[in-house]
Amino acid sequence: MKKRLDMLEQLQEIDYLIDNLKTARNGLTGEMGGIEQALIEARLELAGLESRVVQLEQEKEELETGQAAEQENIRRSEANMKEIKTNKEYQAVGREIAAARRQAAEIDEQTLQKIGLIDDLNTEIAALNDTLAELEQNTSQRRDEKQAEIDKIQQDIDEDVARREAITKELPAGVVKRYNALREQRRGQAVAIARDGYCLGCNMNLPPQLYNSLFRGDELISCPHCQRMLILKHQKSQ
Ligand SMILES: [Zn+2]
Repeated sequence: MKKRLDMLEQLQEIDYLIDNLKTARNGLTGEMGGIEQALIEARLELAGLESRVVQLEQEKEELETGQAAEQENIRRSEANMKEIKTNKEYQAVGREIAAARRQAAEIDEQTLQKIGLIDDLNTEIAALNDTLAELEQNTSQRRDEKQAEIDKIQQDIDEDVARREAITKELPAGVVKRYNALREQRRGQAVAIARDGYCLGCNMNLPPQLYNSLFRGDELISCPHCQRMLILKHQKSQ
């Protein structure tokens, strides 16, 4: 029975180790997601800038088409002028040409604005491409590092699981079943230390008779309050 209690205690220790390792592993997996996220965001930003440039190029082309039409109007009006007979007509066409020239100047102004915006965006895109290339390199390096850490932890988990299995094979199936059920019900702790008349699992006073029977160490005794399996530890062996 003493051996069985020792094994239960070991089992609890191994399970704590596994719990901690799993928490660490999950944390690293989360960090891995975070590293990827920065890359995804930079790529999205780049795609956004690129589509803005495409849009501006299109607007610029439309302005250029408009400008060509305006220049054609001016040429046609100027050609017409030569055939004009009356002063009134001459003035009317003159006003048309002046209006068309103002319009052409306005289009030029807008086109220049678009070109300026496109240049600025292209500068931004070039810088972001550099950043992204660096980020991709760093990400792949950090990803490899994290993965190596995760693999190492997984290896430790696997080893502990194997140790756990070796112990559970030697314990009666009923005890293992009870241990597992208690661990689920009692936040991962199925075994509790009994000391100075107390259960350290729930900090409740143990009935004296029950506490005394722990000294014999010849049976599996559970705390009447939290149901955890009790293991006696004397103050001196602390
Ligand atoms: Zn208890």
